[in-house]
Amino acid sequence: MSDDVNPFESLQEQVDDAAAYLDVPADVIERLKHPERVLETTLSVEMDDGSIELFEAFRSQFNGDRGPYKGGIRYHPGVTRDEVKALSGWMVYKCAVVDIPYGGGKGGIVLDPREYSTAELERITRSYAAELRPVIGPDTDIPAPDVNTGQREMNWIKDTYETLENTTAPGVVTGKAPDSGGSAGRVEATGRSVMLTAREAFDYLGKEIESATVAVQGYGNAGSVAAKLIDDLGANVVAVSDSSGAVYDPDGLDARAAKAHKNETGSLAGFAGAREELTNEELLTLDVDLLVPAALENAIDGDLAPDVGADIIVEAANGPLTPDADDVLTDRDVAVFPDVLANAGGVTVSYFEWVQNRQRFAWTEERVNDELERVITTAFDNLLAAHENRDLPNFRMAAYVVAIQRVAEAAEQGGIWP
Ligand code: GLU
Repeated sequence: MSDDVNPFESLQEQVDDAAAYLDVPADVIERLKHPERVLETTLSVEMDDGSIELFEAFRSQFNGDRGPYKGGIRYHPGVTRDEVKALSGWMVYKCAVVDIPYGGGKGGIVLDPREYSTAELERITRSYAAELRPVIGPDTDIPAPDVNTGQREMNWIKDTYETLENTTAPGVVTGKAPDSGGSAGRVEATGRSVMLTAREAFDYLGKEIESATVAVQGYGNAGSVAAKLIDDLGANVVAVSDSSGAVYDPDGLDARAAKAHKNETGSLAGFAGAREELTNEELLTLDVDLLVPAALENAIDGDLAPDVGADIIVEAANGPLTPDADDVLTDRDVAVFPDVLANAGGVTVSYFEWVQNRQRFAWTEERVNDELERVITTAFDNLLAAHENRDLPNFRMAAYVVAIQRVAEAAEQGGIWP
């Protein structure tokens, strides 16, 4: 894991690399490398002991040419302005890859949620929502869950917004609990698109997923659901990890039991269903058929990439490979299926949630999952076509070429005003 690589610079490098294969004017490309605006705010929040604590918080609105800004809110001590800017840009290209009518945004608060009580987290979230209120809305910018946030935080944001606006507006935020207007299938959606991408990737490469060995780095919502659903395809999940380290069994782990252990104890450490404990770095270099990085950015950098043992990587996290790692893995013929396709199930089902909120009509889980499968497999086929027809070096470039083309066309059709 590399702390030296700035994710915003990685995003800009990815856009520049893709631009070399596109006939898009340089000034349009430049625009697509910078956010339209970034809100930076300092929250003052009362703690349970009566003291006031300050929290740095951000919301980056990267590009709105294809629709309202869309993207999650992250609670993490490592959040920075540049990280949020990068993540908001990746949302633009992700929404364009799966062709849903959104731009990209992202928010974050610099905090470790484990250090605060539920009441404190509610006050922090409501304070942030009040700061966001002038710039969000169902037609302007629609937050969602990301690292360390979920239904609870989204319900608070919706309630704060609706109270201050004196209205009902469930579509101001997605990833809510079902009783607050959330969609069936949203919690599992990110892991589901990782599974669908892995399934399609193995099929395309002529390999059997049923007999594949799999390692998953990161066991939050994306990683644990992906592990479970890939296991359901018949694959053998041999290693999983979280920030406490990795657990490994060459004969295979029970992905559901590992999650239950983590829910009970707070971490994977000490999971009785494993034979060995490893470090995260050891997991990332295991000789497996499929590696799923599902934690944070920069998990694999240019130094670690030569040691990666997997043949196929499907990215569940946003930005888990640095551009240097991408170069090494491309040279080594490791097939990398990028975040902007593989984890796009989350925002795709967020889109379905928003459509349902607008219609005030709930879909069944079966309909959600069927529509998600259609969106992801169509996007996968479009990337393959771009990869083959344009002779692109890897699937990330294919994703960016398809996405930038779509955003640039919308930008051109809108023109510049004034
Ligand atoms: N945080 C998720 C992502 O990075 C979901 C965003 C959304 O649903 O808007 O894609």
